[in-house]
Amino acid sequence: MGCSLAFYLASAGRRVVVIDRGRIGQGATAACAGGVRAQFSTEVNIRIGMEAKQLLARFEAVTEQTAEFRQVGYLFLLTTREERQQFHDAVQLQRRLGVTDVVELGPLDARAMVAGLETDDLSGATFCPSDGLAGPNEVTYGFANAARRLGAMIYEDTPVDGFLRAGDGVTGVRTAAGEISAPETVICAGPWSAEVGAHLGLELPIEPSRRQIFTTEPFAGIRRDTPMTIDFHTSFYFHPEGDGVLFGMSESSVPPGDDVTLDWSVLDRVIAVAQRRWPPLLEARVRTGWAGLYENTPDFQPLIGPLRPGLWIAGGFSGHGFMMAPVIGRWLAEWILTSAPPVDLSTFAPDRFATGALQPERNVV
Ligand SMILES: Cc1cc2nc3c(=O)[nH]c(=O)nc-3n(C[C@H](O)[C@H](O)[C@H](O)COP(=O)(O)OP(=O)(O)OC[C@H]3O[C@@H](n4cnc5c(N)ncnc54)[C@H](O)[C@@H]3O)c2cc1C
Repeated sequence: MGCSLAFYLASAGRRVVVIDRGRIGQGATAACAGGVRAQFSTEVNIRIGMEAKQLLARFEAVTEQTAEFRQVGYLFLLTTREERQQFHDAVQLQRRLGVTDVVELGPLDARAMVAGLETDDLSGATFCPSDGLAGPNEVTYGFANAARRLGAMIYEDTPVDGFLRAGDGVTGVRTAAGEISAPETVICAGPWSAEVGAHLGLELPIEPSRRQIFTTEPFAGIRRDTPMTIDFHTSFYFHPEGDGVLFGMSESSVPPGDDVTLDWSVLDRVIAVAQRRWPPLLEARVRTGWAGLYENTPDFQPLIGPLRPGLWIAGGFSGHGFMMAPVIGRWLAEWILTSAPPVDLSTFAPDRFATGALQPERNVV
């Protein structure tokens, strides 16, 4: 998010500094599954997904680096009638907004798309072929390198541990390496955004929560053009990754916290679900696994906008921040430069939990 924003601000001639306490791209982004989709339930997220696909499709022309964007599609598998209704309503909205290629499918259609899928208990599915997968590392460094060429500076191994203040406003940051003054500061600290905001006494409603991913050795049981397949009821998902498979599952029982120790016992629970939904996975050999952090908000929508004079936030993407970064970086840069957002972003207002104006995202994995 920070590198995308830096690129768009630098493109407009602004002097930009990105400050990371570690290495850029090694936070939540490093753990990400790379999914990019327009299949959301809220209008603003559908619009972001549509624009993200367009930006990623011409990423190389803009940044001189490939995004490794592969439009293999997203297939959502739906079990209950409520899920089917929820996705039916979402597809209607997506189509109204211009996602012309999204379709509702029957269980047998889904089965025809993914060899070995068990679909007897499904109520339906949705599929959007222009959704897909991109490379988190490629996109982060594509933006970062392009921003550097435009004069942006990136300071790594530089933790921010405080803010410079003038009255109610913020005039820069304090870091382990010294102070940096800036007319505008943006918190883009992913799952650690609340921790960073706390240096100013802010209580940002963004909670880190562990999610785990596993990959397999080369596996002939999946085709390279198999879509990102998500069993919405259990949140078990998989997609082709290199010559193997990448798979994972969200567990709502995981307490908030920033522990990223890999818990191998999760693998047993994921495999138990796979045995019912996609048994071929049991024939693959697990190569490795890792844990990363979601950055959840109570309504699964990010916080984007001004917090104080001179201080902004773009955080709390609730598991969708990779695909949103190319778009939000661009829109937020325009907001900062012109004092007006290019589209209505009030759904993401940082103070919305006090005002009660919520539009929760429901298509969350
Ligand atoms: C398992 C998993 C799968 C996911 N799958 C997807 C997916 O398929 N599609 C999708 O769109 N999203 C996905 N996500 C979510 C996505 O990874 C995040 O929403 C996104 O990467 C957030 O980007 P960010 O730049 O806001 O945060 P980060 O990538 O976490 O970057 C924040 C940076 O802030 C730095 N930082 C923290 N504290 C400080 C400090 N005090 N001083 C200086 N720097 C600091 C960190 O070092 C870090 O580099 C997934 C996440 C996980 C964990």
